[in-house]
Amino acid sequence: MATSESQDQLYFALQTFTEVNRIITSSHNSDETLARTAKMIAKRINVDACSIYIYDSDRGVLILKATHGLDSSTIETVYMLPSEGLVGLVLERSAPVQESQMQNHPRFKAFPQTKEDSFSSFLGVPLIEHRRSFGVLVVHTTEPRTFSPQEVQLLGSIATQISSLVSKALLMKELDTATQEPSISKKRKGETHQFSGQAVAYGVAIGKAVLLQQSDVEEPQQKSSRSSESEMSDFQAAMDHTISDTLELIEKVSDKVGTEEASIFHAHLMFLEDQHFQEKIKSSIESGNTASWSIYQTVEEYLGAFAEIKDPYLSEKGADLKDVGYRLLHYLGHEVLSVTKKTGILIMRQLLPGDIARLDTTRIKGIILSKGGVVSHAAILARSLRIPAVCIEDHELDQIHDGDPLAINGDSGVAVAYPDKKILEEFKKLLVEQQNYFEHLDDFRDVPCKTTDGTRISLLANIALGSDEVQLPRYGAEGVGLFRTEFYFLSLDRYPSVSEQTQVYRDLLGNVPEDKPVIFRTLDVGADKAAPYMGFQDEENPFLGYRAVRRQLKQKTVLKEQLTALLMAAETRPNVRLLFPMITNVNEIIQARELFQECRLELEANGSPTAEIEIGMMFEVPSTLLLCEKFMNEIDFCSIGSNDLTQYVLAVDRNNQHIADLYDPLHPAVLQLIDKLVKTAQEYQKPVEICGEMASDPDGCVILAGLGINSLSMNAPLIPVVKRRLSEISIADAKSLAERALEVTSPMEVRKMIRESLPDSHS
Ligand code: PEP
Ligand code: MG
Repeated sequence: MATSESQDQLYFALQTFTEVNRIITSSHNSDETLARTAKMIAKRINVDACSIYIYDSDRGVLILKATHGLDSSTIETVYMLPSEGLVGLVLERSAPVQESQMQNHPRFKAFPQTKEDSFSSFLGVPLIEHRRSFGVLVVHTTEPRTFSPQEVQLLGSIATQISSLVSKALLMKELDTATQEPSISKKRKGETHQFSGQAVAYGVAIGKAVLLQQSDVEEPQQKSSRSSESEMSDFQAAMDHTISDTLELIEKVSDKVGTEEASIFHAHLMFLEDQHFQEKIKSSIESGNTASWSIYQTVEEYLGAFAEIKDPYLSEKGADLKDVGYRLLHYLGHEVLSVTKKTGILIMRQLLPGDIARLDTTRIKGIILSKGGVVSHAAILARSLRIPAVCIEDHELDQIHDGDPLAINGDSGVAVAYPDKKILEEFKKLLVEQQNYFEHLDDFRDVPCKTTDGTRISLLANIALGSDEVQLPRYGAEGVGLFRTEFYFLSLDRYPSVSEQTQVYRDLLGNVPEDKPVIFRTLDVGADKAAPYMGFQDEENPFLGYRAVRRQLKQKTVLKEQLTALLMAAETRPNVRLLFPMITNVNEIIQARELFQECRLELEANGSPTAEIEIGMMFEVPSTLLLCEKFMNEIDFCSIGSNDLTQYVLAVDRNNQHIADLYDPLHPAVLQLIDKLVKTAQEYQKPVEICGEMASDPDGCVILAGLGINSLSMNAPLIPVVKRRLSEISIADAKSLAERALEVTSPMEVRKMIRESLPDSHS
């Protein structure tokens, strides 16, 4: 029960909140908002001065942004390093600091221009947002005095309340400055120019172009004037650094985004550890070449070989190798990396996954690329890190110069250079909406996903590695809607044994409560997912080829071992389900089922108990949706693989950036097939879930709910985004949008219709 003291505090907090609202709505600009906030705080807690300092990460200093009591003409001119003064100490410690006579404190630093000499006491508390201190709130009294613990706590809670207001006021200010940029641009003769490209990662951003010429890696000097031993030891040191750097990166990305995304960097480690790769470099060093040239040359050689093979999976591997090569050269003193201390919108021809994971997201507001489509690894990471990104043509990218003012919209794929006042006003509005939106996302984590009329939609997570299940509670996932088991296989250099697999599956299940479903998908390898040990032959059309179940039903051992391991791990758990990918014909699912039954009987004959496991299939080949009623008696549930379904219905390779504008799962042709499946499944009382990217598409989730799908599975970090989107619409409206979507002719019309009828809440 709340004590009367804490009730007082609660009441106080509420009043402060109301006052802050009043200040925002009645102020004319952000400066006025901040000044009035400082005054309000001074009055409410009865002190003689109150100031707000903000940390400018570009300049590395704290700047006085607003004050009531100090000389206001010094706003924006007084600044200090975090290592200076009492204000710096608050930021450094990220904790309150107080002193009854501040001049006596060893860290005191005088700023006489502010006329602070007339004050004695100091109490400073950090302003924190997203767990990061970004400024300091300071109060003073004329008389020396010690603040009580309650007063310190009170100022702390006021700081918490105003943090978001302050950061938003600053954002407004930044935008206001940006709106003045056309005058600068006129001076530079920059004309507003719009580029229509491809939407790669959601969100909007405004900022100056930060140009990085990654392709400018100059060939290092070939012949060494030093001994080959010293070159070799430089190479070894670069290798060690790069390996530990990659391991750190894996940790950082799995922490920030998830292990599925982090696993992209396992490929980097594999290259680094590759015997052949290392030996090639070493033998070049031994013949008198520099370590840098030997690395450069070996990477070039490998890249040349990759370029010969027209396979999207391997070309992504080429990008990984390039990334690794650059890291090694970086440690040998070559500045070829895309790391930058500048703030703004990054312009690069191609962004490598390692670059993007290393980006300082507080500086890089957005990205414009000209290579690597929506499904490239870099794009997946940009989306997960919430960095807006668009992809434009090479020759358009050349028209952007370092420092050009830019605005980008990662929802529509538009980039504008030298945006005029009107365009900036529009972006400004979107940006504020976007910030507001992200701030409230966490509120959605622990509430069930419901439309406005209370219709429940289950949101589950797609995972790729066993340990990914740790993300479930973090994003409020209601279970695992798709465990892509192939990623575990791809991380090895041989097929895992039954007992190794059992352990991995058992570990996963042990970490998921038994009331949450876990859907295992059997090995979906082939096409863009293959490891050398699997022995895939070159195929003319690998996506239409010998992949997934098609292969495993001909070479049954791998599938049988996986099913046995799965049954052994599941034991008698009630929450395990099984999913077969790439089914084309009814007899395939019948055969797969029989194989599963065989494994079960074998285990039972050996005295091992087995669970009742529901069996489903991926509906991702058009024939299965067209004839869906024929499959219903063979399965317990349906799962829609909209990623593959879209590529097969539209005949658009999902990995080909040149035709990426044609790839859209919201195409009415795809929607009509999904609609047919949902209706048929309802007749047969079979549940339907969807686990393709469409489920987390802010437009896609609305249409899917409208079509009657109440179980969506997606990358866990996107769950709160979808939850929020669905909480803004009634199921009746979603239905009517879905019905109209089935009737139109293009995905553009579908998206336009949704955006006109709903707030654009994902940006
Ligand atoms: C799909 O095809 O939609 C799907 C979920 O599977 P994957 O992306 O792994 O092919
Ligand atoms: Mg698929």
